Amino acid sequence: MTALNLRTTAEIQASDAAHHWHPFTDTAELAAKGTRVISSAQGCWLTTNDGDRLLDGMAGLWCVNVGYGREEIVEAVARQMRQLPYYNTFFQCTHPAATEFAEALSEVSPAHMSRVFFTNSGSESNDTVFRLARVYWDCLDKPSKKMFIGRRNAYHGSSVIGASLGGMGAMHAQSGLPVPGVHHIGQPYWFGEGGESDPAEFGRARARELEAAIDAIGEDNVCAFIAEPIQGAGGVIIPPETYWPEISRICREREILLIADEVICGFGRTGNWWGSDTYAIEPDLMSIAKGMTSGYIPMGGVLISDRVAEVVAHKAGEFYHGYTYSGHPAACAAGLANLRILREEKLVERVRDDLAGYLAKAWAGLADHPMVGEARTKGLLGALELASDSAARTRLAPLDGMGAGARCRDLCVENGLVMRAVGDTMIISPPLVISHGEIDELAARARKALDGLADAYA
Ligand code: PLP
Repeated sequence: MTALNLRTTAEIQASDAAHHWHPFTDTAELAAKGTRVISSAQGCWLTTNDGDRLLDGMAGLWCVNVGYGREEIVEAVARQMRQLPYYNTFFQCTHPAATEFAEALSEVSPAHMSRVFFTNSGSESNDTVFRLARVYWDCLDKPSKKMFIGRRNAYHGSSVIGASLGGMGAMHAQSGLPVPGVHHIGQPYWFGEGGESDPAEFGRARARELEAAIDAIGEDNVCAFIAEPIQGAGGVIIPPETYWPEISRICREREILLIADEVICGFGRTGNWWGSDTYAIEPDLMSIAKGMTSGYIPMGGVLISDRVAEVVAHKAGEFYHGYTYSGHPAACAAGLANLRILREEKLVERVRDDLAGYLAKAWAGLADHPMVGEARTKGLLGALELASDSAARTRLAPLDGMGAGARCRDLCVENGLVMRAVGDTMIISPPLVISHGEIDELAARARKALDGLADAYA
C-alpha cells in the first residue's frame, strides 16, 4: 500500500523534530535517532513510511482490539459526521448515537452496572471516578471519606488526578504529585518483588496491605481503592490468584468503594468482557477507554453501579462535571460499530476459548531462552522478564549505558515486531483478531530479538 503523504521519511522526521513535542519521549534521544514513521496499517500489521512491515504486538497503545482497517467503523463515523457532527449531552440534551451506544454498553456491562458517563480518555475517566466517588460519600453524609488508595507502579493516566492515583515515581517526581488525598500500597508483582516468598502467599500479603492502610488512615477517611485488574503499563503484572479474592473481601468488609480501571483489561483483552469478570471482582465504578472504540476515535467512560448511581442521582441531583465532548456523536458511532464487530465476530469468546491458550503455549516456548527469567500471559496480555538467571531472578546489567529491555525493544523492531519494554520487562497486547499464524510469527520474531540480545551479552 502506498503512503498517503508525499514527503520523504527524512523530511517528516526533520519537521517532527522541529515542531512536534511527543508524549513520554526523551526529546534528545528522539532527535538523535529520528522518529519511526508509521503511515498505514491493516489487521495486525503496521507499514512504515519506507514500506517496511511491522507486526504490532501492542495493538497501538493497547487499544486497537478489532485490528486496523475496519471499513465498518470508518463508514459509521462518516455517516454520523454527515448527519450530526457535534452536539453536546449537557443540560437535558442527548442525540441518538449517545443513547444507542450507552444502551449497547449496558448490554455487555456487568449486570449491576446499567449507566455510563462518557469521557474522552482513560485519564478523564479516572478524574471522573475521583470526583464521583467523593460525591457518593458526601451524599451519604460521610464527607470525611475522601482518601483514595492506589498502588505503586500502577498507571491511571497523565492528568493531575490520573497521575496521582497512579503510582509512577518518575511522574510524581516531575510535578510535585500525588495531590493530597491519595495513598499508595504495594503491587502484586511477584517476579520483581516477591523475594523468597511463595506467589500465593505473596499475593495475599500484598492484598492485606490494603487492610493495613485502611486501619492506619481510618475507615471513616477512606473513599475508595482503585486498581487495574492486571497492571498494564507497569509491566503486565498478572497478580497471583490469591490477590483479588482477598482485595474483594477487604472492600466488602470495610466500607470503601472498589474501582476497577478497565482501560486496558476491558473489551475482551483478558478473555472476558472485563478483567473484573476474569477475577470475579464486583466493582462499584469502572473506568473504560481504549478498546471502547478500538482507538479509531478518542473516547472513554465510567461504568457506574446502580448502587452508586441511585444514591448520587437521588441525593446530589446534578453532578457538576462533564466534558464538551462527552458522548461525542462520531465517537459514539465508532464505539457502536466497534462493539458490533466484537459481538458479531465473537472476538471476546475467541480470546477466551482459543487465542488465550494458543498464545500461552507459544509464549511458554520462550521461557527456556537463556535471556528469559519468566514468561507469563493472561488472555492476550503477555510479558517476558529478561534475566541472566531465571531461578534467582537476577537482572541483566546495562551494556554501554543501555538497559537490556531497551536493547531488546530495538532488536524487536529490527526483526519486524513492536514489543514494548518496561524496564527489563518486555510486554505484548496484540489485537484480538490476531491469527494462530501471526502468534507463531510474533513468538518467532521475539525469539530472534532475544537471540540478538544473547549475542550482545556474549
Ligand atoms: N488507565 C490505564 C489502566 C491505562 O493503561 C491508561 C493508558 O494507558 C489510562 C488509564 C489513561 O488513558 P488515556 O491515555 O486514554 O488518558
